[in-house]
This record gives sequence, C-alpha cells and structure tokens, in this order.
Amino acid sequence: MRIILGHPTQRGSLRRVGVAEVIITVMKYYIWTSGCQMNVADSQRVASALERLGHIPTSRAESADIIVLNTCVVRQSAEDKAYGRLHSLRPLKENRPDVVINLMGCLVGVKGNRALKQAFPFVDVFSPPSDPAPLVDHLLRVDGRATDLAETEVRNAIMDGELILPAHERSTLVSAYIPIVYGCSHACTYCVIPYRRGPEVSRPIDEILAEIHTLTAQGVREVTLLGQIVDRYGLDLNDSITLVDLLHAAHAIEGLDRIRFLTSHPNWMTDKLLDTVAALPKVCEHIEIPFQAGDDEVLQRMKRGYNVREYRALIDRIRARIPGVSMATDIIVGFPGETEEQFRHTYELLEALRFDVAHLARYSPRPDTVSARRMEDDVPKSEKMRRFRALEDLQTRTATEINAGYEGQTLEVLVEEMQGGRWKGRNRTNKLVFIDSEDDLRGKLVNVQIEWAGPWSMRGSLALTSTQPSTRATVA
Ligand code: SAM
Repeated sequence: MRIILGHPTQRGSLRRVGVAEVIITVMKYYIWTSGCQMNVADSQRVASALERLGHIPTSRAESADIIVLNTCVVRQSAEDKAYGRLHSLRPLKENRPDVVINLMGCLVGVKGNRALKQAFPFVDVFSPPSDPAPLVDHLLRVDGRATDLAETEVRNAIMDGELILPAHERSTLVSAYIPIVYGCSHACTYCVIPYRRGPEVSRPIDEILAEIHTLTAQGVREVTLLGQIVDRYGLDLNDSITLVDLLHAAHAIEGLDRIRFLTSHPNWMTDKLLDTVAALPKVCEHIEIPFQAGDDEVLQRMKRGYNVREYRALIDRIRARIPGVSMATDIIVGFPGETEEQFRHTYELLEALRFDVAHLARYSPRPDTVSARRMEDDVPKSEKMRRFRALEDLQTRTATEINAGYEGQTLEVLVEEMQGGRWKGRNRTNKLVFIDSEDDLRGKLVNVQIEWAGPWSMRGSLALTSTQPSTRATVA
C-alpha cells in the first residue's frame, strides 16, 4: 500500500515509513511532561505513536511542528506550571499557526473540559490522560487521510501491548515505566486523580507481558509497574489475576533483570504480595507506601481507610517479611483542620518509622474533591510551609543516617545513563548511585563499592562487574 499524505511544506520533507509504505509529511515533535511517573509513561507512548507515523523529535518547542503539553494538576503548583507553559505557547502559535498544539493529561481529564477549550482556542487537540489517539487522529485527518484509513492508522500507531520506544530511547533506555492500572476509584477526599484519570481499570495481563517482552527486546532491563493503587492490580477484573500473578509472570521473562512497582495502598498489601517480593530475586525490595498523615482523625477526614496503629503494624510486617527492604512514603501537611497536635503526630510517626524517602506536599484544595467542596482550607500558607520544613529537616537527618550505613558496602547497581560526567544507576533498594568509571556501563549490573553517601545519593567505584541477574542487596 502506498499512500501519499499531504504535500512537502515548510514543516519538513516527505518520508516513507513502516511496513505499509505510507508516505507522510515529516514533522518535528516536542513533548513537555510534568508530574508523576504515569505521565512519563504516557509521554513515551505519545512519542512512540508519533514516531510510528514517521515524525521526529526535537528538544526545542520553538522548532517543533507538534507540541504536546502533558500536564499534572495533583497540586495547585503543578496546575499553575501547566497554565504558565500553555500561556507561553500563545505567541508561538500566533507566529506559526500551522504548529499543532496538543494539551494532554490531567488538566484536560477524562471527561474533557469545555471551559479549557474556550479559554485556549489556540489549542488544536485536547487529550485525556494516557491516550495518544486524539493527537494521532488529528494529525492524520489534517493530512487528508480518508476516514476508514485514518482509523486503522490510529490503531497501528498506538498498538497497545507492543510499545516501540522512541528512537532516542531504543537500545539506550534501561529502566521503563509500565502503567498496569489506569485511574483510581478510592477517592481520598483531597485527591483529584479519580476525577481526572477516571475510575480504576487494570490492563489485561497478556497486554502487560507483551509490552515487557517488546521492551526487553529493545534493551530495557528494569520495569516499574505503575498504578495509583498498584497493589489492587486485577481486583477490578473477572479473571482472579492479581499483582502476585503478574510479578511471577514478569519474573519469568528472559532479559529482564529487575521489577519494581508503585504506589501501594496500605489496605491492599497482602502477606502473599510481601512474600512474593521477598521470594522473587528480580523483584526489588523497595516499597512505596504513603501514609499521608500520622493522626487518626486527619486520616479519617482524608478517607484513607486505615488508622495509625494499623499502618505501624503493616510497616512492621513489611520489614519482617522482606529482609533489607527500603521504603518510601508520601505525606500531606496542612490538610483542612490539621491542628498543631495532629501535625506533631505526623512528625512523630515519620520520626519513628524511619523511611528511606518521604515525598512531602503542602495541601492545596483541588477542584471537585470532597475536601475542596466541604472543608475549609484553614491552615495558613506560612504554617503549611513551617510544617513542611520541619518534616523536610527530619527526613534529611534520617536519610543521612540510613545512607551512612552504606559507606564501605558493596551494592549491586543497574546503570542507566551518564550524568554530569559520572554513570548513574540505582541499587535494588532504589538508592541513586553515581559511579566513576571510564568503561561503558549502560545497562549493566555492576558491583559498586560505596565511598560516600549523602541523604539523596551515593558515590562509588566499580568493585566487580557482573551482568548476571541479581543477588539480594548486601546491606540491610
Ligand atoms: N495514589 C497515590 C496515593 O496513595 O495517594 C498517589 C497519588 S498522587 C499522584 C501523589 C501524591 O500527591 C499523594 O500521595 C499526595 O501526597 C499528594 N497529593 C494528592 N492530592 C494532594 C492535594 N490536594 N494537596 C497536596 N498534595 C496532594
């Protein structure tokens, strides 16, 4: 099949792409990504779809023919950043009306956003999170493709379950994110995710495994399975498959060295899941498990579904069942009505549990959420900042102490890329490790002697190179 789409324009030259020998007008694309790992994965899928159409990347928005803004609105600051970026594109669009602007992600949401369309008429395409189809469809249609053909091409470009990495990541990307649960149905009172990403939908296991297979064939050695409540994977499906089954099946994939998953919700962390993490050598002993607040009344108003006693018991259980486990948590300060005493309970819980990492946030009311509709945002900005800083200082001290224990130890590190003249990678417990070495280490599992450890990263040099799948970390 040979189809000529469009005409050579100032955008680029005609190019022959793919097995179908489709000829298209080559355009340069630029993607701006804000927010969580899910958005990083979504942007990668957009890039993949665009490259299947024959388009090529550029690192500058000013020189792009297609600009994608993949947005996050989980906090007010993220939303402000997205609007700032969007406004900055207006003059560019005025100068070059043929540039295709695609607004994507949580700012748009799954239900679309009419007010947004009115406020930003210069945006050509609005896409919900995780969906490259509206952009691909637009590009094909403006290029004059017949409707039935366009539909086939949209499907071909997106190809769920067979992710062809964008060219710049093929054979170089070592660690990839794979969404396994879209959306969320838990509805914590502060959280906008269910409104913008829709209800929880687990992806079929075969599709996920096919995707891991195609990624390992392209050089990926580590996958991180993503979901807002990743430990609920499969519970919305009718095939009784759970995250435990998925971990076992992924573990059997040759060429894959490491598996991680995030974010877990305390209520769905079963002993079976913890024992699976402990038993499967490729599954890394790192758990991301937000507690959000260390006070029962606040937790109840957040509708988290557990109390402090239960959370503490869970952390004990995780530590008992997974030797050498590292843990990260999320905390929100300044939730409506949070008193000084309630904040102190959060401080004390963080101090007592000694997490490796704490992601801290100052509460901001989000549209549609229960807390925004029914609770007064009554903790002053300055007080939120004071509480944030107190937790930040505490966590810096804790992480410094924990990581100091790694000095002099040998860690198995999967090397991802060169950064600032050093190789950068992570050990099994998700510590960021920089390595001084002249060798090409990308994609290799190496043993690193740690010479220096700070709260956020470590540095070391090669102890003994190995490309064998992992042994457990040498540090508890
Ligand atoms: N689904 C995960 C969970 O268990 O909460 C993560 C959701 S969210 C993408 C990441 C983090 O943003 C949350 O863990 C929470 O700490 C923070 N967050 C969510 N809504 C917020 C809000 N309204 N204000 C401040 N922080 C918020």
